[in-house]
Amino acid sequence: MELKNKRVLVVGLGKSGVAAARFLAAHGARVTVSDAKADAGGQETPALLEMGIAVETGTHGERTFVDQDLIVVSPGVPVDLPQLEMARRNGLSIIGEVELAYRFLKGKIIAITGSNGKTTTTTLVGEILKHVGFHVQVGGNIGTPVIDLVAESRNDGWTVLEISSFQLETIVDFRPKIAAILNITPDHLDRHGSMDAYIAAKARIFENQAKGDSVVLNNRDPICRGFVEAGSAIAVPSEVQTVWFEKHGEVGKGACVIDGKICWLDDKTTGIMLPSEVPLKGEHNLENVLAAVACAMLAGCAPKVIREAVMKFKAVDHRLQFISTVDGVEYYNDSKATNVDATIKALESFVGGIHLILGGKDKESDYTVLLPLLRARAKHVYTIGSAAEKIELQLGREVPLTHVETLSNAVKLASEHAVAGDVVLLAPACSSFDQFNNYEHRGKVFRGLVESLLTKKLAHAKGGR
Ligand code: ADP
Repeated sequence: MELKNKRVLVVGLGKSGVAAARFLAAHGARVTVSDAKADAGGQETPALLEMGIAVETGTHGERTFVDQDLIVVSPGVPVDLPQLEMARRNGLSIIGEVELAYRFLKGKIIAITGSNGKTTTTTLVGEILKHVGFHVQVGGNIGTPVIDLVAESRNDGWTVLEISSFQLETIVDFRPKIAAILNITPDHLDRHGSMDAYIAAKARIFENQAKGDSVVLNNRDPICRGFVEAGSAIAVPSEVQTVWFEKHGEVGKGACVIDGKICWLDDKTTGIMLPSEVPLKGEHNLENVLAAVACAMLAGCAPKVIREAVMKFKAVDHRLQFISTVDGVEYYNDSKATNVDATIKALESFVGGIHLILGGKDKESDYTVLLPLLRARAKHVYTIGSAAEKIELQLGREVPLTHVETLSNAVKLASEHAVAGDVVLLAPACSSFDQFNNYEHRGKVFRGLVESLLTKKLAHAKGGR
C-alpha cells in the first residue's frame, strides 16, 4: 500500500487514531485528523501539528471528509456517522486502524475476539508463545495499537491481537492465520443496534480466512456452533479448519477436558495439564485457558511449555482479581465485568455468601437474567451509578438490595453487612463512564477502598493491644 502523498483523514483521536496518524505521516501521507470532542488529542496535539498533521477538533467538518484518498476510522466512531455515509457514497475507501496495520504487518497473526475473555486469553496466548521463545508481540484492543506493532514485526514472528467487534466492523482484507471466537453474548447493543448486527461484526474475524488458516470456536456457545451448521447465513469458509474448545467432554478436534484432564485432540489425544493446575478462578477462565491451549497447539507450541506458561499466569488486573481478606471477608475486583454475562460468570465462581456491587452506565441490558444466581448465591446487592434505578426496578423485589449511589458507600455498607466467609464482589454489569474515567479507574478506586478498610482494621488492632 503506497501512502506517499496520499491524502488521508483519520477520524477519532483516541489512542489508536493518534498512532495511525503518526504512522501515516511518517510514511509520507498528507494527514488530517478529525474528532467531534473539543478536547480530543489533548497533550498529543502539539506533536501531531509538528509532524505537519492538520488537526480538527470539536466538529467533523463536512469539507474535511471530501478531497481525501482514504479515511481511517477509529473503533470509537460509529460507522454510520453521517459524514462517513457521505464519504462512502462518494466512493471513498474507509478502513480501520487494524486493517491499515494489517497491510504492513509481517509474520503470522493470531486474532482473538468474543464478548468476554479476550484480554485474559490474548495475554495468556502471548505468554505461552513467549515462553516457547518465539518472537511475539501482543496488542490491538489491549495495550499497544496494532499499527505500533508494525515496525517490530518479523516474518518469522507472531502478532497476537485482541480484536473488538468495533474493530472488526472496519476490516477489509484482515486475515489472521488463527482466529478465535470465545463466546457471543449480548454486549454493546446500544452501539450495534441489534444482536444480529453484533454477531455479524464478530464473525468478520474469519471472513477472509482461507486454506491453511484455522478458527477456534467455543463448543458450548450456540452462536459459535451456528457458524458451522449447514445453511447458516454466516458460516466459516469451507477450506478453513475449525477447531473447538470444550470444558466438559470431547470434541472432534481441539482442546477439551476429558477424564479430568485438559487435552488436545486431533488424530491422537495429548494430555496438557490438570484443571486444578490452572491458577485462575472460575469455569469461564478454564474456557479461556482451553481456547489459549488450542491457539498455542495450532501455533506449534509444545504441551510441556504450554503447561508451564499457564501455571505461571496471574489474573489480569480488574478481571476477577483477588484484592484482600479483611475480617475473614474476601474482596474481589471484577471491574471489567461490564456486561451481564461477565457478572454471571463472576457469580458462578463463588458458592455463596456474595455481596454484589452492581451498576454504572447501563448498556440497555436485561438484569433479570442475574436473578437465579442472585437468589442462590448472593446475600445482598448494592447498586451504584446511573443504572441503579433500572436495576432496582428489575431486581429489587426479588433480592435484598440497597441503592447506595457510590462505590465508597457500597464498600462501606458491604463491609458492615458481611461476615467471615463471605465475599464482597465488584462485578457491576455496566460500563463505568457515568462515575469514572474507565473500568480501570473504577477498579483502582475499589482497591483503594478495600486497602483503607484493611489499614483501619490494622490500626484498630494495634490500638487495641
Ligand atoms: P474482554 O477483553 O473480552 O473484556 P477480559 O478478559 O478483560 O475480556 O474479561 C472481561 C470480563 O469478563 C471480566 O469480568 C472477566 O472476569 C469476565 N470473563 C473473562 N473470561 C470470560 C469468559 N470466557 N466468559 C465470560 N466472562 C468472562
